[in-house]
Amino acid sequence: MINQTSVQLGSVRSVIRELFEYGKKRKAQIGEDKVFDFSLGNPSVAPPQIVEDTLIDILTNGDPVEVHGYTSAQGDASVRKAVADYINSQFAVGIGADNIYMTCGAAASLCITLNALLNEGDEVITIAPYFPEYKVFTEHARGKLVPVLGEEGTFQPDIEAIKAAITPNTKAILINSPNNPSGVVYTEQAITELCKVLQECKENGQTIYLISDEPYRELVFGGVKVPYIMNYYRDSIVCYSYSKSLSLPGERIGYIAVNPAMEGAAEVYAAVCGAGRALGYVCAPALFQKLIARVIGTTSDISVYKNNRDVLVQALESYGYEVVRPDGAFYLFVKSLEPDSDAFAERAKDYELLIVSAKSFGVEGYVRISYCVSPDMLARSLPAFRALAESYKK
Ligand code: PLP
Repeated sequence: MINQTSVQLGSVRSVIRELFEYGKKRKAQIGEDKVFDFSLGNPSVAPPQIVEDTLIDILTNGDPVEVHGYTSAQGDASVRKAVADYINSQFAVGIGADNIYMTCGAAASLCITLNALLNEGDEVITIAPYFPEYKVFTEHARGKLVPVLGEEGTFQPDIEAIKAAITPNTKAILINSPNNPSGVVYTEQAITELCKVLQECKENGQTIYLISDEPYRELVFGGVKVPYIMNYYRDSIVCYSYSKSLSLPGERIGYIAVNPAMEGAAEVYAAVCGAGRALGYVCAPALFQKLIARVIGTTSDISVYKNNRDVLVQALESYGYEVVRPDGAFYLFVKSLEPDSDAFAERAKDYELLIVSAKSFGVEGYVRISYCVSPDMLARSLPAFRALAESYKK
């Protein structure tokens, strides 16, 4: 018999994918412009022009054998240096090239990090709502995911609840801010308090690693600050990706940054290299490593997401929806108009609105709207949101 866990994972689509597939069929039936698809977190803004220009330059002027060849498993040394230099220029953490491991995006960063840290039965606390793949990645790395609900209404970390969830088996806390699916940015106060709890555990002899999943770091609006965890806690690892900041999700490029101030940083980095090796990643895409070294610090035009957020929040609130104030990413978390969010998301389909029930994100009573869509589609969808709300008033 082959591995049944893998069969199960490969046979059952995620709720989000299921909805996306439904959307494709529905568009074929009634027309592309009649369906309002808010299901996926696929960037709707093109990469900045410098990405195309630089790729053309590398392909035109680079040595093709080198451009398309293997790099070192952990990534090309000059690319890792460029990433480290950039992090230092932003956050002054004294990181070096040998603390950076180039990956195929945040998913790979997380899988490698979890496999590097966890032993059989170790627990990983995360804050709900959370990215559903965390459970898949943690369990594949022999661990157990322990979701702890964020504070009702704000979905900031609930420090007391996290404290209560820590057991002798807790090996890591996995956070994601700006958050998918809530769009919430964890405040500096929340991060400081969380790190204080972890520091207390450390002083009592238990090291708990803080893993920060940061594909949305640059996608923040109105000058909101996303604290850099290395400046708050030593035993920390950043899992970064360029999928969203540069609109390159299909190219698979990101990195893991191990805090150089961590106790045993060299051993943890070796474990990261070992996990990457055992998982068969070989190396991150060479062409895109080279690109990153040259365009680091630039982002796509995120003003489109900010405008979408403003239009959506203003409209939905005026129709009577209760929304969680989103400071970042491109997701809006909205209170379901009936207790069962699955039923609410199903009813939204009657209005050709494809929105995701938050149950799969570990929270009851909410839905996620991915507003990384064209402003035109967003504007055309508003009457449907209004009609959906009206249908509950009858
Ligand atoms: N983590 C979170 C919170 C995400 O939302 C995503 C993708 O949507 C990922 C990780 C995976 O990102 P990547 O495409 O870089 O692997």
